[in-house]
Amino acid sequence: MSERWTCPMHPEVQSDHAGDCPICGMALERDPVTVATRQYTCPMHPEIVRAEPGDCPICGMALEPMVMSDTEEDTGELDAMTRRFWVSAALSLPLFVYAMGDLIPGRPFESILPAAGNQAVTRAGFKGRHAHR
Ligand SMILES: [Zn+2]
Ligand SMILES: [Zn+2]
Repeated sequence: MSERWTCPMHPEVQSDHAGDCPICGMALERDPVTVATRQYTCPMHPEIVRAEPGDCPICGMALEPMVMSDTEEDTGELDAMTRRFWVSAALSLPLFVYAMGDLIPGRPFESILPAAGNQAVTRAGFKGRHAHR
């Protein structure tokens, strides 16, 4: 649409959509000048773009302000936050499951751990019996 994306390192690189710089591979950033400047266009003639309100030189209609939507940028930030949330959720999940183990009837986690402990006890008992003989 009316968006302009440019590489911070290479201002000559310009694109009308998000992407990577073909020179350095950096993510393109939206041109701040284009975002800050409000532009007016004719609903019938999109090629007519003016920096201030006025009439279309072709049909004489009043120019309408072009919508510079920021939603794409906001969504990107939300996506990053959502991703961060899930990463931290995934990292804390094992801890959560372990903590929940105490609350689960039958305590499946403790039945695993003492099994290893019992083995050690059995071996110790065997050794003790051996020494006693
Ligand atoms: Zn670049
Ligand atoms: Zn027009």
